[in-house]
Amino acid sequence: METLRNKILKYGHAIDENILKVDSFLNHQVDPNLMYDIGTNFKNYFKDKNITKVFTIESSGIAPAVMTALQMNIPMVTLKKNTSKILNDDFYQTTIHSFTKEIDYTLTLSKKYITSKDNILIVDDFLANGEAASGACRLVEEIGAKVAGIGIVIEKSFQPGRKLLDDKGYDVYSLARISKLGKGLIEFIK
Ligand code: 5GP
Repeated sequence: METLRNKILKYGHAIDENILKVDSFLNHQVDPNLMYDIGTNFKNYFKDKNITKVFTIESSGIAPAVMTALQMNIPMVTLKKNTSKILNDDFYQTTIHSFTKEIDYTLTLSKKYITSKDNILIVDDFLANGEAASGACRLVEEIGAKVAGIGIVIEKSFQPGRKLLDDKGYDVYSLARISKLGKGLIEFIK
């Protein structure tokens, strides 16, 4: 997605070889026009997949996910991050390791917002090691629902997440694929 790549080049900031900051349009301040175009791209790519709900992971995936859900005219559900397990039968939970924060957290989903008949599109802001996306897939599949695809705004293709999800057979669609990061350097897969 060219507009996204241009935004990343203009406003993104690689703090080292691993982490890209995009606070001015995605992770802190949000560019709603860009989010709308992201939603259009995901809708067009996944339009034949009979998706019933868009799931995302709290909190930076919410803006692109809600725009995607708006255009698909289906609900968006946020998987909430908790630091500990909720001992309550009303929720499904799974544990994830955070790439950026180097901690474990629990993804929580109310039983009210999924059934085994659902066909889920998972949308997230970044793909790095694939822990967040794999955890979301695990949660969906443990319930007996289907993962129809995974939409990623920014994929760091030099990290293991993309291969992990490809090897598991998921349909992964990333709007910007970064091949290399460094101080002041951002390169995309051509
Ligand atoms: P993963 O689980 O794939 O290792 O990491 C994905 C999650 O970590 C994303 O939901 C995102 O919040 C965060 N993340 C991973 N890499 C980056 C990065 O380079 N920049 C930012 N801002 N967040 C990242």
